[in-house]
Amino acid sequence: MMSTATVFVASSAIAPGIDLKLIGVHAAEAHVLGVRVDCIDMESALKRIEALANAGGHHLVATVNPEFVMRARSDREFARVLGSADLCLPDGSGVVWAARRQGCSMSGPVTGVDLIPPLAAMCARRGWRMFLLGAQPGVAADLAQQLRTGNPGLAVEAYAGSADPAADDETVAAVTRHKPHVLLVAFGAPRQEMWIDRAGRRVNVPVSIGVGGSFDYLTGRVTRAPRWMRSAGLEWLFRLVRQPWRLRRMAVLPVFAWRVLRES
Ligand code: UDP
Repeated sequence: MMSTATVFVASSAIAPGIDLKLIGVHAAEAHVLGVRVDCIDMESALKRIEALANAGGHHLVATVNPEFVMRARSDREFARVLGSADLCLPDGSGVVWAARRQGCSMSGPVTGVDLIPPLAAMCARRGWRMFLLGAQPGVAADLAQQLRTGNPGLAVEAYAGSADPAADDETVAAVTRHKPHVLLVAFGAPRQEMWIDRAGRRVNVPVSIGVGGSFDYLTGRVTRAPRWMRSAGLEWLFRLVRQPWRLRRMAVLPVFAWRVLRES
């Protein structure tokens, strides 16, 4: 029986308009309106994060959604920081849709909220310390307690802190005291990525990940869209109904879709 070999390529190397899936080619990464997105599923994302943590040094993992992409078009500093990321996870069906148009074959989004529980299990297994930074006071601490209960032996600490540069010395001191291997930063985009870019080297953590509102979801403070809505790519609608104040931020979504259709 003949089988088609799967070849991984950088999608930017392929001419637009060619349906890569038809010729058995899967892209390793996409460039969604200029922002890199790795064509990756949860299992390989965890493996990549494990390798980054093993390597030491300092690495940024970004959870890229359409709001990131649109922001990066007008905010050069944010675009630069996203460009420096070692891993760009496809966070949301809009980005997955855009990446699939470029030959990415991922099974679905890899979101911060879905990533945290298996990541905590991995840290417990490897004896790696975690640190949860950000969200409203008490939220990260609640999640830390939840993760300790679910993963006996896991060393995880939390600090609400602040994304304000004036608080950096205090926040850096709180993080470095724990000497984490993995740092989750929940200040919302782009503040969290800018914080990691600014303070990441000072805290000297191998893997720092911007996780947006994940702590609020995992502690039940914000309800997540039901699975069927997420599978149908309708999480944005659920968020809009529950949090109408997001309307201004979400107004970029149709523009995102239109630009993706126009540019690839
Ligand atoms: N947040 C914070 N400091 C700030 C702004 C936001 O800790 O200055 C927290 C907020 O409490 C929430 C998280 O950042 O837990 C994500 O905020 P948002 O919903 O804006 O981000 P998204 O999930 O849309 O990226």
